[in-house]
Amino acid sequence: MTDLHRLSIREISEGLAAAKFSSRELTEHYLKRIAKIDPQVRSYVTVTNEVALAQADAADALRQAGQATALTGIPVAHKDIFCTQGIKTSAGSKMLDNFISPYDATVVAQGKTAGLVTLGKVNMDEFAMGSTSESSFYGATKNPWALDHVPGGSSGGSAAVVAADLAPFATGTDTGGSIRQPASFCGLTGLKPTYGRVSRYGIIAYASSLDQAGPMARSAEDCAYLMNVMAGHDAKDSTSMDKAVEDYVANLNATALKGLRIGIPKQYFNVAGLDAAVKARVEESLKKLEELGAVLVEIDLNMTESYVPTYYLIAPAEASSNLSRYDGVRYGYRAENPQDILDLYKRSRSEGFGAEVQRRILIGTYALSAGYYDAYYVKAQKVRRLIQQDFLKAFEQVDVIAAPTAPTTAYKIGASLDPVEMYLGDIYTIAVNLAGLPAISAPVGFDQDNLPVGLQLIGNYWSESQLLSVVHQYQQATDWHSKRAAIAEENA
Ligand code: GLN
Repeated sequence: MTDLHRLSIREISEGLAAAKFSSRELTEHYLKRIAKIDPQVRSYVTVTNEVALAQADAADALRQAGQATALTGIPVAHKDIFCTQGIKTSAGSKMLDNFISPYDATVVAQGKTAGLVTLGKVNMDEFAMGSTSESSFYGATKNPWALDHVPGGSSGGSAAVVAADLAPFATGTDTGGSIRQPASFCGLTGLKPTYGRVSRYGIIAYASSLDQAGPMARSAEDCAYLMNVMAGHDAKDSTSMDKAVEDYVANLNATALKGLRIGIPKQYFNVAGLDAAVKARVEESLKKLEELGAVLVEIDLNMTESYVPTYYLIAPAEASSNLSRYDGVRYGYRAENPQDILDLYKRSRSEGFGAEVQRRILIGTYALSAGYYDAYYVKAQKVRRLIQQDFLKAFEQVDVIAAPTAPTTAYKIGASLDPVEMYLGDIYTIAVNLAGLPAISAPVGFDQDNLPVGLQLIGNYWSESQLLSVVHQYQQATDWHSKRAAIAEENA
């Protein structure tokens, strides 16, 4: 078969079960495509050829023995922020360019248990700080829809591999939008689960109270398959929730669209910088949902103006603390010929971290320093609580909240965004992390340059099933999610 990369996860699963092809054939097919196409997209930091083929053979053997699960033998790409035993885990940084993880992140281990085959590790903004994937030590990943555009970030590699058909699905992490925004920029579906639904163990920390891992794929259905693997309690992560996991695939049609109340926050549609085409596509998608039975309800989210300042205080504060472990002593990059211990710290960190990471460390240490702590950090935590309460009040009125995922479509590579401008682009995604809520982004059309637009749906706590179900039913009635990026079409 030559079109294995065009199959959905369900189709792959059925094909493997019916012995139409083996995991070995499927994996070789993807590895060949990666070798051919990825030099243009530049999405993989590491391709794990031998590991993948060995896992594929093991998966085929399990299947022969009648021990396969629905996902046994299906390839996956992991964001290079998930620790993978024996495989380089860089977080897109020179600091960790030489780091071979001695253990697997829980998400990776769960993938192995389910029989997933690891194709490799994919590019990202350095330490997940950014919205373009340009801040990676390994250079910029390209957007498969238009190679002179960014795929978004920080999970830009995860989005690009799926959009270019270089992996059937991928893992991502989302601290302030890093699953949803690249999904939006690359015409994919991406789910940021409730904080605590997916284990953070073995995920290189950015901002621990905001970080959450989730699936990125073409459709809600494909995401549901990966969510079934990723979700669950983990004793190794004290913030992971001991709560029964739903069967996200079985629940894909469980939410009734008829009568579903979708909140439309007034403030969100009046944001300066909201692109006209993005607004139009999002409104069209809401009309479609209305046709399918949903009821649109205008709501207020009065804290909207506080999102960016609050997030860009709390996230760098936590980052500055998390990144203090990279000192040139224990692991990671070490400067040559240090004069003394201070020189070792200073130069290892100055040479090992890129500009955006250094900027965040400076903001964070400043906000946490004695004398400023109450004025900045404590205040930001109070505002964070108000933002959460704003959402909870809204959920007394509505079932889900709709928003654009990002105010624009994908930026041009190198479009010298100044940092503050880039931070403003996170307006629709970051409040969800501050509140710990789940949210999904789904493709709903294109702008005048044929770049994808994403609709975001935000749910109440633990409503992952509901979000996936709403998007699944929208995708049954539309076909935006099955459109292929230019480079995928050229290499169909
Ligand atoms: N763009 C946001 C930031 O730079 C979000 C990144 C993320 O979710 N990891 O912090």
